[in-house]
Amino acid sequence: MLQGLMQARPLLVSAITDYAEQAHGKREITSRLVDEPDWRYDYRGLAQRSRKLANALLDLGICAGDRVSSLAWNTHRHMELFFGVTGSGAVLHTANPRLHADQIIYTINHAGSRILFFDSSFTKLVESIRPRLLTVEHFFSLSPSGAAATYEDFISPASSEFVWPIFDENSGAILCYTSGTTGSPKGVLYSHRSIVLHAMGAGLPAAFGLTAFDVVMPCSSLYHATAWGLPFVAAIAGSKFVLPADRLDPESLHELIEREGVTFTGGVPTIWTAYLEWLDRLEKSPAGLRRVVIGGSAVPVSMAQSFLRQHNVEVLQLWGMTETCPLGVVATPTPQLASRGETEMWETIWTRQGRLQFGIELKLVDEAGCCVAHDGHTPGALMVRGPWVVERYFGSAEPAVDSEGWFNTGDVATLDEDGFMRITDRAKDVIKSGGEWISSIDLENAAAGAPGVKVAAVVGLAHPRWDERPLLVVEPHEGAVISITVVMDHLRDKIVRWWLPDSIIIAEVPLTATGKIDKKQLRIQYQGYYDDAKT
Ligand code: ADP
Repeated sequence: MLQGLMQARPLLVSAITDYAEQAHGKREITSRLVDEPDWRYDYRGLAQRSRKLANALLDLGICAGDRVSSLAWNTHRHMELFFGVTGSGAVLHTANPRLHADQIIYTINHAGSRILFFDSSFTKLVESIRPRLLTVEHFFSLSPSGAAATYEDFISPASSEFVWPIFDENSGAILCYTSGTTGSPKGVLYSHRSIVLHAMGAGLPAAFGLTAFDVVMPCSSLYHATAWGLPFVAAIAGSKFVLPADRLDPESLHELIEREGVTFTGGVPTIWTAYLEWLDRLEKSPAGLRRVVIGGSAVPVSMAQSFLRQHNVEVLQLWGMTETCPLGVVATPTPQLASRGETEMWETIWTRQGRLQFGIELKLVDEAGCCVAHDGHTPGALMVRGPWVVERYFGSAEPAVDSEGWFNTGDVATLDEDGFMRITDRAKDVIKSGGEWISSIDLENAAAGAPGVKVAAVVGLAHPRWDERPLLVVEPHEGAVISITVVMDHLRDKIVRWWLPDSIIIAEVPLTATGKIDKKQLRIQYQGYYDDAKT
């Protein structure tokens, strides 16, 4: 092999900080805060304060590779941890405050963090878990008031002059734990290289396509897979950045969308269900909002339709996992689809999770591990590989991938010739009825469009005749009344007869720490429901 003769500058997060400061230092960043007035500065301010933080960490004796945890919402100070901690060579563990306290303790101890930065909303929680945090030496409140030492006091004496160290791009930068829907939380340690490549990939027109004209508001949490990398993607693109703190209710979001001119936002479907319903009720429109990236669980077609048809907002569905940084596929138009006309193009896109992105390889395998056809029909276990896919969980000796580097996502999907991927189920959510698969996601999607339905959840329950049969649980919109007959009639138009759920229950749908339907909980709740069924 003949060696190339180009520079091997490592891909480091600090390069993004430097670039953002130089290329669009005056582009605004604005942040809501928990108990303070809104904050306004720009990428130059972000870079300067991140350097102060890096100096302060150094003075405190935090070394390269040391872990630092955060328990924080989407605020500018949390962003500064993203850039300052990682730039200094330390690792930021973004603890998920929506987890049970025992799991928060587990993740911080597992990470072995030496510092914990927390928003004032978590003061009580931190006080109560403090004796059980075995490695944390320093606690800093991210709010400027309160008994604890504060972040502002910590960074204010430090100099804003700091030369970012250059080190191996494969060094750890941000540690995220999976939310535990599939067992106890597992740490995914993003490297500098994976973060930079992911940000470059996610910024491409085939994915988020952000530009310096965009005003980006992440409504996915900074603590959950880095808010889908948006802080990094926006910093590279030079987009104005708007941080909503913990206020993700429709009214608060709308206020920011209008006031700050938000053009691009992203979050899990539950946030947008509430927002669309609110817009509808108050007969409002989402101002200059043009695109919403939605992922984390399947996007109901009715949601994408409402956004486009009523509000002229394009929905980009995203499929991904904590283990993939999280970008896997994004549903964006292609010329082939466009040639079929607008309507058919969107109808097709809305039923797919997204299309292949450069940097992520996908394949489907059957139970024997053999590849299945990419014909748009044949489902298989979805495997992924690429420079921003996990190789090994933090603290584990075993690889998380097979001998060829493929990571099994636990999802079941189809892939078509044009590279569009459609999730048909999570492996453990597959409903196998009479030897055939029923897609719980398709059923949920269909039921979500029924009158009065806010959330629809489907689980497969053991059935004496069919092995498993689907149970549908529907939660009504506030003040709405759901008729089981109407939901059944609605479903009859949309799915094959044998897919119809044997029962529909009207009840509150339990959600996980990351706002997804908690199927584990539902299965426990309705265990044995069909035990006495005859047909
Ligand atoms: P966890 O795995 O801890 O639940 P993640 O956020 O990493 O948390 O979840 C990843 C999983 O979420 C995927 O494997 C998939 O099952 C589901 N998911 C993510 N995006 C979508 C989507 N657009 N459609 C359907 N399922 C999705």
